[in-house]
Amino acid sequence: ALDIGHDLGRAILNARTFEREHRLVEEFRALDTYKGQLIATVAHELKNPLSSVLGYLEMLESSPDLSGTAKGSLAAMERGAQRMVKVIDDLLLLSKVGDPDNPVIARPVDLRDVVDDVVDLVGLAADQKRIDLRVELPDHPVVALGDADELDRVTANLLSNAVKYTPEGGSVTVRLEHVGAEVVLTCADEGIGISAADRERLGTEFFRSSNPLAISQPGTGLGLAIVRRIVDRHDGRLEIESELGHGSTFRVHLPAA
Ligand code: ADP
Repeated sequence: ALDIGHDLGRAILNARTFEREHRLVEEFRALDTYKGQLIATVAHELKNPLSSVLGYLEMLESSPDLSGTAKGSLAAMERGAQRMVKVIDDLLLLSKVGDPDNPVIARPVDLRDVVDDVVDLVGLAADQKRIDLRVELPDHPVVALGDADELDRVTANLLSNAVKYTPEGGSVTVRLEHVGAEVVLTCADEGIGISAADRERLGTEFFRSSNPLAISQPGTGLGLAIVRRIVDRHDGRLEIESELGHGSTFRVHLPAA
């Protein structure tokens, strides 16, 4: 009788612990949803006044009788405001692709077209740093089911990071291939690399490495968070290999259409 009483006592205790943990998980979920809504609302509210500031700045910049100092100051203000627009747009996108009520509208996308678009976009920055940008695409379609704009964004964020975090004269490779039932987009660089401790935190909103070589580059720490969420909602996975000082390889695996 003592044993039964003891076991019953333990079972009740376990049930209470389980209930408490379950409640905590629910509370964390609710907080996370609240955080997402707060970020989206603030970003939205900042966007309109900022657009109007940019509009007035552009108008002022075009007035004929400006001193050199005034011109320089207005240009600096415009650069600052443009940076803010980029952060706000990234925050709005982050909240859009993290919203479970806004699922992907999936269509067949030939990822070769996506890579071609992004290479055009990033090519100039690569040329300016004399980076050898190697593009390895098969001559048959590499089709995934997804949202072309979002997959474009994934590729653009990975490739622009590869160029950004690779010193002058280095090389960056972007590759597409079929592996089993998946299509794989690889973005490999011979840049500054990422430490094991930093790798664990990649994709967390606003995370930027404290590596002085990385910090010297402009950025918000939102690019990889966006990549992660988009890859997740396409039922894909992101693989990261990196060695500090030797370069990084990011692989996006997506189910083949
Ligand atoms: P951002 O580049 O705007 O800081 P990201 O979210 O794109 O934000 O990247 C987060 C951090 O991950 C960067 O600050 C950088 O430290 C590191 N990182 C991302 N891609 C690379 C890369 N290809 N090589 C080295 N470090 C990288």
